Amino acid sequence: MYLGAHVSIAKSIALAPERGKSIGCEAIQIFTKNQRQWRAREIGGEEAKEFEENMKKNEIKEAVAHVSYLINLGSSNSELWKKSLESFMHETNRCDVLGIDHLVIHPGTNRDESEGIKRIAEGINRAIESSNVIIALETTAGQGNSIGHRFEQLSSIIELTDKKRVSVCFDTCHTYAAGYDIKESYEKVMEEFDSVIGMKHLSTIHLNDSKGSCGSHLDRHEHIGKGALGTETFRRLVNDKRLSKVPGILETPGGDEEFKKNLDTLKALRYSF
Ligand SMILES: [Zn+2]
Repeated sequence: MYLGAHVSIAKSIALAPERGKSIGCEAIQIFTKNQRQWRAREIGGEEAKEFEENMKKNEIKEAVAHVSYLINLGSSNSELWKKSLESFMHETNRCDVLGIDHLVIHPGTNRDESEGIKRIAEGINRAIESSNVIIALETTAGQGNSIGHRFEQLSSIIELTDKKRVSVCFDTCHTYAAGYDIKESYEKVMEEFDSVIGMKHLSTIHLNDSKGSCGSHLDRHEHIGKGALGTETFRRLVNDKRLSKVPGILETPGGDEEFKKNLDTLKALRYSF
């Protein structure tokens, strides 16, 4: 697993790889714009070129992007759905400009699960038509009407799209809070993932310990080893050979200094072969 964290794009996106390297990242996740606004200035050619150069210079193996929290492709409100799609397409194009392969999105919310799934799939299909990026649907904790807390829901979305272009971001905190016990039954959950979605669709991991217990539906991230998942769960994850080429991104609280500590903790769990 390529270990990393979500790093800031303050001042310039091009600075993100170096920020990542300085705290020990082998992979990074970024927002490509302010995550609380719908629109953003275009990314300049110079900034994009510099970003790609800095990725190599700082030996970052992979960068993934995460979409804005405002987007809801599952929405039954057609105004909000259209606005979400527009913003989502804007973000897929930003990934193309930056040479980023994977874009993580929380699938969306809708009181009607099957309507939500159809709308999410339609939004994805429209967006990938004009972009090269692979979408990574993030597993959710199952709070409110969020879709994506059952593997079956993610599989249903993928079935309605161009399957080669849609993958899954497995968030350890969310998946556990959703009721998949990766602490006590790690192998069983991974086998279930493989049979329902397919391991080849697992493109990204979010490495977060969980404040809530299994099945609590609580989306509260905790430092590695300090939450309900505990150190042993992360030892299994970072040494899982099926995940050896997958970016594992921290989204734990506290900023860069805490990321560095968590990365050190994770690296110490690696077996040396
Ligand atoms: Zn996450």
